[in-house]
Amino acid sequence: MTAPTLQALPETRCPLCGGANQCEPAQTGRLDVECWCTTAAISPAALALVPADKINKACLCPRCAAGVNAD
Ligand SMILES: [Zn+2]
Repeated sequence: MTAPTLQALPETRCPLCGGANQCEPAQTGRLDVECWCTTAAISPAALALVPADKINKACLCPRCAAGVNAD
């Protein structure tokens, strides 16, 4: 039995606006790099708009994460 290898998903697009999410792990395919979103405050309103199949898989872009597009 093989242990599941944690690998960053190549989700480089924001699930809300389709723009570049600037996710470092998604771009490099590595989980030992930090995404900007680990230290950013993510708007709960923006998070609520993320499709269920993208939650914990794709990063939002900085604009959406800040709630700019959600009103
Ligand atoms: Zn976005």
